[in-house]
Amino acid sequence: MDSRFDRSLLRDADLLREDLFIDGAWTPGSGGERTEVVDPATGVVIARMASAAAADVERAITTADAAAPAWGRLPAPARSRILRRWYDLIVEHADDLATILTAEQGKPFAEARGEILYGAGFVEWYAEECKRTYGDVIPTNVEGRRLLTLRQPVGVTAAITPWNFPSAMILRKAGPALAAGCPMIIKPAEETPLSATALAELAVRAGIPRGVLSVVPGPPVLVGEILTSHAAVRALSFTGSTEVGKLLMAQSARTVKKVALELGGNAPLIVFDDADLDAAVAGAMASKFRNAGQTCVCANRLLVQSGIHDAFVKRLQVAIEALTVGNGFEEGSEQGPLISEAAIEKVQRHIGDAVEGGASVLSGGRRHSLGQTFFEPTLLIGVHRDMLVANEETFGPVAAVLKFETEDEAVDVANDTPFGLAAYFFTTDLGRMWRVGENLEFGVVGVNTGLISYEGAPFGGVKESGVGREGSRHGIDEFTELKYLCVDGLAG
Ligand code: NAP
Repeated sequence: MDSRFDRSLLRDADLLREDLFIDGAWTPGSGGERTEVVDPATGVVIARMASAAAADVERAITTADAAAPAWGRLPAPARSRILRRWYDLIVEHADDLATILTAEQGKPFAEARGEILYGAGFVEWYAEECKRTYGDVIPTNVEGRRLLTLRQPVGVTAAITPWNFPSAMILRKAGPALAAGCPMIIKPAEETPLSATALAELAVRAGIPRGVLSVVPGPPVLVGEILTSHAAVRALSFTGSTEVGKLLMAQSARTVKKVALELGGNAPLIVFDDADLDAAVAGAMASKFRNAGQTCVCANRLLVQSGIHDAFVKRLQVAIEALTVGNGFEEGSEQGPLISEAAIEKVQRHIGDAVEGGASVLSGGRRHSLGQTFFEPTLLIGVHRDMLVANEETFGPVAAVLKFETEDEAVDVANDTPFGLAAYFFTTDLGRMWRVGENLEFGVVGVNTGLISYEGAPFGGVKESGVGREGSRHGIDEFTELKYLCVDGLAG
């Protein structure tokens, strides 16, 4: 267990950084603590990442606070050019960044590369959008008075991000925050800090000024407490579980911060009798098995109408059994390992509970013969709405199929969850597209597709899946304040 990251895999080995990034410089941190980063496909320790102590996080906040006025005042085209350079560097180094991502997270290299480019898209998009953070001139109500609104940077911001998209979840936040003129302090997930520090290395090369971007991996409770209690931090953007999101929301209340929370989901994917079967199977596979089922928008419940149920299940089974499971670096690998032993246990618990309740395993259902945390792509049928697998995010490669009879029943089952992030449905009936699209209580709805993410569109949840939006012109609002300027005394 003492092997290190094979730097020869990287064209630019300087992207591999195992220190904290504060005030424009790399530092081992004041506490001297380090955390092991493990390749989930092999169990090998690939890095020892510095772990921030309280003093390090406080220094990151102080330096961000010092950098905020100049960064916020920089004319938008100048900020835009710096962000554009960051985008160009990320794209130029996409292969190396994907290598680092696959090594620490496990997803297939092609998927990792896709994530890098997807995340970079947010930097590119917001590099442009920052030139358009317009205010208004409001028709006056009093002679000699003018009414204006300005959109100003909120100030220092913090991001706490998960392991399942170690690069994109950072860029989706840092892109709009920096574009808006706000410094950002990032606490990446313990399992996947190397993607974060690699992005910081490229930020330096792009010319992002010191203090504007910091990366402080460290003990989550400690770092979270400092970031949420410090008055200088004016906004928190979090992606992760609903449980931790609620905690951070409560903690942020003490200093009344702006919060944007992208939390857990329990996505339904509904296949109606009139669906295009090819599109429905392709959509279900894309939505369910990407990242081995470890995405917040993964179809967690496949609701299939009785008339198409057997044909859909048959086709889905063929597609599931054709999936290639393997180390993400192997050519053709389509499903990597799960992130941890705990993830495997959750998957097993969900399958066990479903089978006990009368569901059947048509494919998979067990640990994969590859060992480690690899798991067989699994198909469960005969699932009911009261089973664990239909109520909690499984976060693993388990397609759980529930049969339904009517449209009303499907919508009722789909909405029967405290979560409201993504939903999908497949139909060729135009009236149904509108009815179901409007009646699903979810923030993001895919119709006849299982892939919906795009930097130009707003992403976010309702109910316990979160508050706020990422992407699109709305995403930058999380990092700006609307100021009303009332100018009187202008009468001639
Ligand atoms: P998690 O346990 O909530 O962790 C997310 C982040 O929060 C990590 O950086 C973690 O640090 C940190 N954290 C944990 N406890 C904390 C605390 N008490 N105070 C401050 N920070 C704390 O979630 P996860 O298991 O990594 O990620 C999976 C979850 O994220 C799923 O529920 C998934 O649906 C959700 N997700 C949502 C979206 C979305 O856009 N809505 C996207 C991706 C994932 P450590 O890693 O160091 O523990």
